[in-house]
Amino acid sequence: MTIRVLAQHVADAIAAGEVVERPASVVKELLENSLDAGARHITVEVRGAGRTLIRVADDGAGIPPVELRLAFRRHATSKVATVDDLGAIMSLGFRGEALASVAAVSDVEARSGGGRVRLRAAEVVEEGASIPVPGTAVEVRDLFATTPARLKFLKSEATETAACVRTVHSYALLYPEVRFEMTIDGRSTLKTPGDGDLSAAAAAVLGTAVAEELLEVEEDGVRGLVSQPRLTRGSRDGIIIAINRRPAASRSLLYAVEECYQGSLERGRYPVAVLDVIVDPHEVDVNVHPAKREVRFHAEGAIFARVQRGVRTALTGSAPYRLEPAPPPVAGVVREWHAPELHEARPALVTSPVPASIDPVSPLRALGQVKDGYLIAESEDGVVLVDQHAAHERVLYNRFLARLESRSLSPASQALLLPETIDLAPAQMAAAVDSRERLRSLGFEVEEFGPRALRVTAVPAETPASRALPALQELLEVLADSRADGAIARAAASLACHSAVRFGDRLDPSEQRKLLAELEVADRSITCPHGRPTRLVLSWQELKRHFRRNY
Ligand code: ADP
Ligand code: MG
Repeated sequence: MTIRVLAQHVADAIAAGEVVERPASVVKELLENSLDAGARHITVEVRGAGRTLIRVADDGAGIPPVELRLAFRRHATSKVATVDDLGAIMSLGFRGEALASVAAVSDVEARSGGGRVRLRAAEVVEEGASIPVPGTAVEVRDLFATTPARLKFLKSEATETAACVRTVHSYALLYPEVRFEMTIDGRSTLKTPGDGDLSAAAAAVLGTAVAEELLEVEEDGVRGLVSQPRLTRGSRDGIIIAINRRPAASRSLLYAVEECYQGSLERGRYPVAVLDVIVDPHEVDVNVHPAKREVRFHAEGAIFARVQRGVRTALTGSAPYRLEPAPPPVAGVVREWHAPELHEARPALVTSPVPASIDPVSPLRALGQVKDGYLIAESEDGVVLVDQHAAHERVLYNRFLARLESRSLSPASQALLLPETIDLAPAQMAAAVDSRERLRSLGFEVEEFGPRALRVTAVPAETPASRALPALQELLEVLADSRADGAIARAAASLACHSAVRFGDRLDPSEQRKLLAELEVADRSITCPHGRPTRLVLSWQELKRHFRRNY
């Protein structure tokens, strides 16, 4: 084939593909236009997973009827005029491509300011007057009907619908002052109050049970909500990060958030978060991705640090686990205690927030051990049941982490009666050589013993000698395959797990007292490093209610 310039409709379809990948992209572009127009009330209607209909109506500034047709021309925008404007973009849109792209791959009609225009495959097919109502309504039908290649790549209806929902949810959370309504196939699925209160928007979007588990972040230009470690999800879908209220897919900022939960969440569990980072618009380049999904910033490290500071400050106020308050007793009905379901927030789980400055744990007085696994204690709050393994894991994790971070320089070591030799894979061997100082800070003394073996002469005092070598093996695996920052926390968690007392180990009264005393003063003691709770509190209040006592 010889080189030719593409026919306009072919070029349009190609360009459109970059902006409009799937129904959720249409929802995103239309929402952004409504927000840019200063809307305070936006309704979104989705039918047939967005392929039948996507309708977004707003009460914003509107488009003058004489400009309606122009709005659908490629590179027609009211938001940017000069190249300089691109240096500090304040609006969500700026390329003038969205409406043109939508028109290239659908049947679209826009009504605004008493005017009406309809386009199909980028051609105007109808134009005229409409009843003047405030704002703008855009209806997109038969999306991708004429682009079979794109249609083929759409996922299931449920997945495409979910993507549309997630898009609306993100903006509803980032713009709590705007009232959002959404219907899917005629069913109302979302109504936010639009009163500017982020918690109220979160309650509408995520449900009150989840919203009550969220902690406020408000620091240094980072604002939003993050979940307590006990509320988690199986994917990162619950994390929304925005730069200047523009949702931004930034791996590094995702990592910044996740890292704050390091040592509090099980593997494969993720927090819920809505965070907006205010950045000088001159410091951000949003013009790097066709759908503006990616954002680049000049001072990435500083922004990363700000996000972590905000999240960490919020997390210091996490509340302890508590037994779900039992409903008032009903005569003749025996009620049982229900342990709270972990990682699934329910309103009943929520306790009054504990001020960060006050240690939420009052001194625990040991009363005994049951099932060779739970310690029973008494505190000011009530009767406390402690999972001995989880509690010990937390205590040791904190200690090992401090040693690894060289905050505590005195490892407690026990020399082995007979030095042991372990065989290692090359990657573990390399990790052992590189991490010699770290191992020593934990209490391990090792030396190379040939190219694939290590001689171990001493192990941490906390680690039972019989488990020390498997613990070291795993520690080296962790150090060999983890990236810099996470590696230390994971190493501490791995060693803590190997070293902690087991469920089933009998503890004598002095061991029970020691463990409870250590737990009392441990940081973040409400969970083990994997996010499992260390304790359950049966409050005096609950006992009183249960036994129907007045005192
Ligand atoms: P961009 O948002 O990048 O400017 P679009 O193609 O999305 O490009 O929209 C083109 C223009 O149409 C916008 O610049 C704006 O002037 C106008 N417009 C689109 N949607 C709306 C709306 N909902 N309310 C008011 N004006 C709108
Ligand atoms: Mg736009």
